[in-house]
Amino acid sequence: MQKQSRRNFIRTSSFGLGAAIIPGTLNSCLNLSKKITHIVSLSFDDGFEKSSIKTTEIFEKYKLSACINVIASAHENLFELPNQYHACPVGDFDLWNELQARGHEIMPHSLKHTNLREAPLEEAKELVEKCLDIFDNKLDSFDRSTAIFNFPYNQSSPEIEEWILQEVMAFRTGGPEINSLPYEGMARLTCTSYGPENIDAHLESRIQNLLALPEGWLIYNTHGLDDEGWGPVSSAYLDELLARMSELDHVAVLPVGQALMQTHPNR
Ligand SMILES: [Zn+2]
Repeated sequence: MQKQSRRNFIRTSSFGLGAAIIPGTLNSCLNLSKKITHIVSLSFDDGFEKSSIKTTEIFEKYKLSACINVIASAHENLFELPNQYHACPVGDFDLWNELQARGHEIMPHSLKHTNLREAPLEEAKELVEKCLDIFDNKLDSFDRSTAIFNFPYNQSSPEIEEWILQEVMAFRTGGPEINSLPYEGMARLTCTSYGPENIDAHLESRIQNLLALPEGWLIYNTHGLDDEGWGPVSSAYLDELLARMSELDHVAVLPVGQALMQTHPNR
């Protein structure tokens, strides 16, 4: 999607005052009078096929967009599994384009899940470039200037962080999971995650921490559903959580990029 057309999909005068229109066929449950003080972003990594299909179905029940971050080469035959938590089948760009067309957000989560803090800087840059090249070629209307790069293992160095902002709008790395509400120029987003076991209780505690604050933006790095991947969330809990959050007028559940685009100067 080009910037101009994206602008037509996402429109809000300012955070807390405007309405967010979710891209694609989904309509936001936000309304014009709603004052948003809390944002919840569940940022699903690794692109497991079964989990991604089910996750998006659950989000669609509540007219919400899911946020799925995929490894650019994980669907290829020669992909080497980074560890056992990646053993479940992953989706390919046919699936990512379909889910994106239905209103979900698909963002890069590296070329092959290399730890980019540990890699030599030049190699790390090359891996990011190759990842973004694949997104340019395979994800419909991918636009680096509005992309969020999600670091594998939430690991990054100051050097790669500085460089990567020449390539993408923002990145997600490890750190405090409560971010300030989106502001213009915000580019360093931090998140937490939990695993390898089920995350339901951990995620719920972080939701409660967020709601106890006057305002804030929780970015929680989720992975698969039920039995897939490192630190899975159960589909029943996810369904119940989204139902509960949808009832709260001051809370918006948004993909990371959409939340940030609320303040993007070119939106
Ligand atoms: Zn990952």
